[in-house]
Amino acid sequence: MSGNHNHIVDNSLAGKVKEQTGVSAARCYQCGKCSAGCPVSEDMDYPPSLIMRMLQTGDSADEELILRSKSIWFCLTCEMCIARCPMEVDIPPMMDYLRSESIKQNKSNPASKNIISFHKAFLDSIRETGRLYELGLTLDFKVRSMKLMQDMSIVPTMLAKNKLNFLPEMIKNRRNIKQIFQKTIDKKEETK
Ligand code: SF4
Ligand code: SF4
Repeated sequence: MSGNHNHIVDNSLAGKVKEQTGVSAARCYQCGKCSAGCPVSEDMDYPPSLIMRMLQTGDSADEELILRSKSIWFCLTCEMCIARCPMEVDIPPMMDYLRSESIKQNKSNPASKNIISFHKAFLDSIRETGRLYELGLTLDFKVRSMKLMQDMSIVPTMLAKNKLNFLPEMIKNRRNIKQIFQKTIDKKEETK
């Protein structure tokens, strides 16, 4: 598009999501399979299929609700939704983008505070130990998820719903996670 200043820019949130992630919310036909499979949908204010619907409306009030929602912070990037979606709507990267947009616009839900501060402390601890490459982003994600679930006390809901299939992988890293938690706690104490 370089040199062409006449193309129409879609300024809706869905338009920005599409531009940044390549994923189109318009493809969603509201079958609800993503929400049915999502391990945290019950605890979200708007389950993933509803987030898709709210993006589709292009209504600024809906967009505001999305950016201020807990849902975008509860998302564990587990990819259960995309695995089930008949339209291959790749929700996790959309959630990622919505989180960054929410921060950018200063609209992040209070529920995000724990996860953001934890994430920061976690990165600091990596910086100190220089173990970024060893640990990798997968563990980072898993630690974030564990912490989030603990904070939100949503593990019991997930157990009741038998939606913990992805936990064995997380438990394998329990030792590491424990150490990292300890570091994070120490850090918090230091900054008090
Ligand atoms: S599974 Fe896909 S098509 Fe169905 S509601 Fe979810 S995003 Fe939309
Ligand atoms: S990636 Fe997010 S929205 Fe999709 S199933 Fe997992 S937690 Fe739910």
